[in-house]
Amino acid sequence: MSGNGRLQDYRSKRDFSRTKEPGGGRGARSPDTPRFVVQIHDARRMHFDFRLQVDDVLKSWSIPKGPSTDPQDKRLAVPTEDHPLEYEEFEGVIPGGEYGGGTVIVWDHGTYEPLSHDRRGRTVPFGEALEQGHATFRLNGSKLRGEFALTRFRDRTDDGEEAWLLVKAREGRGGAGGRGTPDPRRARSVRTGRTLAQVAADSGQE
Ligand code: MN
Repeated sequence: MSGNGRLQDYRSKRDFSRTKEPGGGRGARSPDTPRFVVQIHDARRMHFDFRLQVDDVLKSWSIPKGPSTDPQDKRLAVPTEDHPLEYEEFEGVIPGGEYGGGTVIVWDHGTYEPLSHDRRGRTVPFGEALEQGHATFRLNGSKLRGEFALTRFRDRTDDGEEAWLLVKAREGRGGAGGRGTPDPRRARSVRTGRTLAQVAADSGQE
């Protein structure tokens, strides 16, 4: 499916005359090394948005508690619509009336390395691994580093939405302990060093 087709859902949920979120499709090129971004979104319910670049879109999950660096934490991750690549840089205030209104900061970003293999040790394309419901990858961010897995544990049904878990892998050295999850209200943008409150205040002054 083309990038435009994949972003239909994204666009249909937004009024671009009101929100400053990117519309996508303005020729953003997909980088050679795939990117990831974690945004903190102070919406009606605070949550983290976890996005992995697959081809020309950002596959996205909403994670209520945020990613954890502790391998014992299994974090619920609910899929949301594909976002345009430019969304990686979005930080600001989404107008209240919009779907998912509220302040957004870019908490972490960087590249990731797909790690999924089949039983014979052959690399499985990342998009395929996701379709099959289990993908492993190594994050190279400023805050998040190391191996993680996303696993679908519930399919979409008439009664409920699809649900996944994001879990940090146990790693031989230096992987133990971790710092858990940040307090979203104190966390700072990896791009601008600002907190949610500072981004909200700056937006009011524009
Ligand atoms: Mn969100």
